[in-house]
Amino acid sequence: MAPQPEAAPAPVRGDGPALLREISSRLPQVKLLTEPVDRESYRRDETAYLPTGLPLAVALPDTTEQVAELVRLCARFDVPVVPRGAGTGLSGGAAGIEGALTIAFTRMNRVLEIDHENLLVVTQPGVVNADLKKAVAAEGLFYAPDPASYETCTIGGNLGTNAGGLCCVKYGVTRDAVLGLEVVMADGTVLRLGGRNVKDVAGYGLIPLLVGSQGTLALVTEATLRLRAAPPPRATLLAFFPSLEAAGEAVAGITRAGIVPVTLELMDQTTIRAVDDVHRLGLDRDAAATLLVESDLPGTAAVAEVDAAEAACRVAGAGLVVRAQDATEADWLREGRRLAYRALEAQGVARMEDVGVPRSRIPELLQAIEQIAARHRIRVGTFGHAGDGNLHPTFVLGRDEPDDVAAARLHAARAELFEAALQLGGTVTGEHGIGAVRPDWLVRQRGEPAVAVMRAIKQALDPQGILNPGRVLA
Ligand SMILES: Cc1cc2nc3c(=O)[nH]c(=O)nc-3n(C[C@H](O)[C@H](O)[C@H](O)COP(=O)(O)OP(=O)(O)OC[C@H]3O[C@@H](n4cnc5c(N)ncnc54)[C@H](O)[C@@H]3O)c2cc1C
Repeated sequence: MAPQPEAAPAPVRGDGPALLREISSRLPQVKLLTEPVDRESYRRDETAYLPTGLPLAVALPDTTEQVAELVRLCARFDVPVVPRGAGTGLSGGAAGIEGALTIAFTRMNRVLEIDHENLLVVTQPGVVNADLKKAVAAEGLFYAPDPASYETCTIGGNLGTNAGGLCCVKYGVTRDAVLGLEVVMADGTVLRLGGRNVKDVAGYGLIPLLVGSQGTLALVTEATLRLRAAPPPRATLLAFFPSLEAAGEAVAGITRAGIVPVTLELMDQTTIRAVDDVHRLGLDRDAAATLLVESDLPGTAAVAEVDAAEAACRVAGAGLVVRAQDATEADWLREGRRLAYRALEAQGVARMEDVGVPRSRIPELLQAIEQIAARHRIRVGTFGHAGDGNLHPTFVLGRDEPDDVAAARLHAARAELFEAALQLGGTVTGEHGIGAVRPDWLVRQRGEPAVAVMRAIKQALDPQGILNPGRVLA
């Protein structure tokens, strides 16, 4: 029997009214939302289908000291805490818990320092990813991690999920960009970890542990992030394929050839058509799949890299290959890929998954996805970060399909998808996180002994279990 993906909201516990009285008296400067309509708006994140709880209240602190005091008070009154950025998460990590205090980092949205000499930026967690990119770009620098949601998601959320994105294939995921963190622990203690050192191996690696822990081990109140010199404008290529397998072979071929493009993204035919319906980009709607390949190497090296990628695509069977004529055209093509999920949402009830496999096994994963969708007669649009082996098969159901029928079909298809990824040596989540929607699969993937170690860590750092309970670990 496959595990059930969705869980009921955690129950209320502790003395919520006393907590609110104490916050109002001790922290009168903290904006506190207690009206039902405001609390309702923090009930969900992007995992709209997930049963969620209504927060007791939402606090919007301005400083680390306020966050620490809020957490201390929550511990004293035994009220759970849900840290929240922009709520664009796709695993329910920031969704409301019944009776919990949601701490939203919206107001802690300042870029504190750009350090040219050390190529780093110090930032508060509520800064939107795109705003951070813009701030450092204005000084000729580049912050690499770029989730497709970069115009709305926050750095705190990116750290919470260890977000990936469209250029991670070359520059790594969020964790790879972190040099230092300031965090508030479950008892309100403030820790400063790492800092400006590029190399630092003193003691256990707490930063890698906390990044991606989805607000279950600590709250991030400041981050020191690695920057690079701004790369040159990109050379951009779009290759269309007669079959999904051919596109998968091209990904494997590009990797085999040792080419490391800055972007290597895939869209299947359902996604191509959905994107073209909405954005009229003139894509080849008859192609079974397309790959977006970009190089940001300097000068002629970019053309040479894209030439090599095109050759690998042709060997794999690409038909039409187009190159962006200028930066504007390249932006459109990239934007088309970024908007893939929204475009599929316009076609019906869309549910995005997030499986990953070793890159050489992408062709087999694509084949498995097609077979699963056909077996369950569910439309699927697959797109994603093919260069990372991370795909987002998105099941699209008719809006008129009864909820229980849709849920049963989805549940079965999803279980088979996860099994297929695991059989290929992959993962049930490449970047969205276990959150509230995949805890049972964590045990299936990692095994009980490894999950027992995770539980021991959680117990050591949050013995009361007040930080985002029920997320990551069931
Ligand atoms: C259209 C679309 C495209 C997307 N594309 C990508 C993509 O390419 N790559 C990718 O990785 N994700 C993607 N996502 C998912 C999502 O945008 C990312 O997970 C993002 O990192 C979430 O940021 P957020 O600010 O919205 O965080 P939230 O959703 O608010 O929170 C996410 C998690 O982080 C925790 N958290 C938030 N702030 C803090 C903090 N200060 N301290 C500790 N924990 C905290 C929360 O508790 C929660 O568990 C996409 C989502 C959408 C809707």
